[in-house]
Amino acid sequence: MAFEMGEETRQVPGTWDISTYRYKIEGRGLNLLTEAMKEGKIRGVRCHECGTVYVPGPTFCRKCFIDIDEVVEVKDTGEVVSYAVEMSNMRGEPLDEKRITAMIKLDGSDTWIVGTITDIDWEDVEVGMKVKSVWVDEPAGKLNDIDHFEPL
Ligand SMILES: [Zn+2]
Repeated sequence: MAFEMGEETRQVPGTWDISTYRYKIEGRGLNLLTEAMKEGKIRGVRCHECGTVYVPGPTFCRKCFIDIDEVVEVKDTGEVVSYAVEMSNMRGEPLDEKRITAMIKLDGSDTWIVGTITDIDWEDVEVGMKVKSVWVDEPAGKLNDIDHFEPL
């Protein structure tokens, strides 16, 4: 199969044993976020030293390495930092409707969350574009209370 590589495409050959990776989600910050989401709000934690706002909030600042606990509310609007367009399903069959998954920096936050963007042609999505959260009708304190994002 002929495959044309773009200039910015990088290939990292090798066998990757993903079972060696470990992920840790800090419960406190996640609870803070999901409790807020029940009220249709988004809360994170701000570092009193450098001002960095994290969503979900960790127990320590990743820049200053100090304990942090100042709760702040951020907006449910934000900016696309990066995105990927899913063109086909796992079998390689083209999707009728392309799926856009994006890293979104919420206004007031310095970190990114992942979401799906709808109501826009995939070719019109841009890094830096403004988006707004579309919530489910009855938020239940779950991460998918934000159903998706739409262009603002
Ligand atoms: Zn800090």
